[in-house]
Amino acid sequence: MIERVECAGRNLEVVWDDGLVLHTNLRLSGTWHLYRIGERWRKPGEQMRVAIEVPEWVAVCFNAPVVETYREFDRYRHPGFGRLGPDVVTATDAQLTECARGISQYPDPQATVAEVLLDQHLVGGIGNVLRSEILWSCELSPFAVVSELHPEDCVHVINAAARMLRSNAQPVYRVTNAELPGGLAVYGRNGQRCARCGDTVHVRNVGENVRSLYWCPGCQVLHQPVTTHTGEQPREMDPHPAAAKYLADLPWRRDSLAG
Ligand SMILES: [Zn+2]
Repeated sequence: MIERVECAGRNLEVVWDDGLVLHTNLRLSGTWHLYRIGERWRKPGEQMRVAIEVPEWVAVCFNAPVVETYREFDRYRHPGFGRLGPDVVTATDAQLTECARGISQYPDPQATVAEVLLDQHLVGGIGNVLRSEILWSCELSPFAVVSELHPEDCVHVINAAARMLRSNAQPVYRVTNAELPGGLAVYGRNGQRCARCGDTVHVRNVGENVRSLYWCPGCQVLHQPVTTHTGEQPREMDPHPAAAKYLADLPWRRDSLAG
């Protein structure tokens, strides 16, 4: 899943949720076009340098002199960090049990469950989007430290990961919750109402690569830490005053604050 697109001058970067980055520099000749599937392109196909196709749309980059991909550095994904864990899509039941045990016996007991889910040396295949969705489905606080989790919480998380990733393995759409429009419960839904408890979904940028973590503070309360370890107040939302005011004025926030 594409997490963000960044543009600086003639450079355009598309960042996927597993840390893959597509970089294009358009210089004078390059251009990106957006077409519906089946629509006639306005430039010949042989000028295409790269195309990104999703079910209804295709984004085509023509004639860019620089088209390259790289991965954001992530120590958890770095090959020097050690042997990789099994891929959650193809893992056997015994391997899934081992992954669950790996969470509860994680080498850094103060690591949060949100961090540990992206550790490819424990379990592979969980990208940034599904991380938020898995934690929501388990009602777990993303900031729960792994040493506080019960073994059954860990089994729950790994099973949720396997269920979601396996149902996403064939079709092109990601659906973590078929009842919800767009299929995602919290990812990308900051400021919207949680489908389970009605509270407001929050977002926080965490980690070395500033990955966005989405969660509902109303119902993801299992093993929520009482205080933060840094002693500093966590930044729960865009600090911009307009965003804070917007959140405070949402009708369901007002009601919950009033009563
Ligand atoms: Zn909720």
